[in-house]
Amino acid sequence: CGIIGILGSHEVAPLLVESLKRLEYRGYDSAGIATVNEGRLDRRRAVGKLVNLSDVLVHDPLPGHAGIGHTRWATHGVPAERNAHPHRAGRVSVVHNGIIENFRELRAWLADRGLVQESDTDTETVALLANLFLSEGASPEEAVEMTLQRLHGAYALLFIFEGEEDLLIAARKGSPLAIGHGDGEMFVGSDAIALAPFTSRITYLEEGDWAVVTRAGARIKDGAGRLANRPAKTIQIES
Ligand code: GLU
Repeated sequence: CGIIGILGSHEVAPLLVESLKRLEYRGYDSAGIATVNEGRLDRRRAVGKLVNLSDVLVHDPLPGHAGIGHTRWATHGVPAERNAHPHRAGRVSVVHNGIIENFRELRAWLADRGLVQESDTDTETVALLANLFLSEGASPEEAVEMTLQRLHGAYALLFIFEGEEDLLIAARKGSPLAIGHGDGEMFVGSDAIALAPFTSRITYLEEGDWAVVTRAGARIKDGAGRLANRPAKTIQIES
């Protein structure tokens, strides 16, 4: 329901949770974050309020300067830790707002290849697809493009990858996403309110856009795969 991604210059776990708090108003049943730290992908998730996730993080901190976070409003699969985002398959971790309408067909296609889900969500299907393409030799950018081409439905998606501490890939179709430009840091959120503590320089993705984000900036492509020029705006939001 709420999404945040950060390529930061110091520990991002507290920033991810702070940003998710700003998205609480949307409602949610569970929450989680994932980071890449020294190349390793890891995650923490909890059912219920963000304070439960914070408690998990006190006992089991999640280091790293790059990460994604999510508050979930369950549409496929009951509220449970195993269904909470971020989802992970091998080298990929994903957070998602919305619904993948053809996930049953995709899930069956993956199962035929021996790739079985751990959760009941439509989102884990996206992670499994992207990881399959990576394992077949695609780059992260290629793997996301191939994955997006197979998805029907409404989504805002963020991907991070094992071994990639300066890479966040974002996609928007039917669910908004905004990119925030910091000073050597980059942010992506489901709305500008989530980004307000960090920056007021915002680029809104347009319908069908997807973006390859590094700390140097964002390269945005439109739904037809053409490079898109989406100028950043300075916005005023109370932080
Ligand atoms: N369809 C996804 C799920 O049920 C995402 C829900 C959301 O937007 O929070 O896990």
